[in-house]
Amino acid sequence: MSFPCSRCGLCCQNISQVRALDNYHNGNGICKHYSFEKGCKIYAQRPLVCRIDEGYQAFFLSVISLDEYYQKNAEVCNQLQEQCHYDEIYRVVIK
Ligand code: SF4
Repeated sequence: MSFPCSRCGLCCQNISQVRALDNYHNGNGICKHYSFEKGCKIYAQRPLVCRIDEGYQAFFLSVISLDEYYQKNAEVCNQLQEQCHYDEIYRVVIK
């Protein structure tokens, strides 16, 4: 199982609060490697902080369960989508 990202792209457009990605945007919070048409242009080489499943193994394995981690990530995804008035078709649902 992996995190069911709906590829809305909003995390890539809102990175200004992520210190590890300070060098990935030009002050506008949008990752300079993000394409509105194609998504992440460096997907295979993207940083660890952008990798939800690998991030769990690296940082949260001994902290919370995978299910809790997915639920918390989904909450953030869905809050961001609601704030940006994205269609409900993009909501992340953890089953
Ligand atoms: S905000 Fe969530 S659902 Fe949207 S692309 Fe990022 S991880 Fe995927």
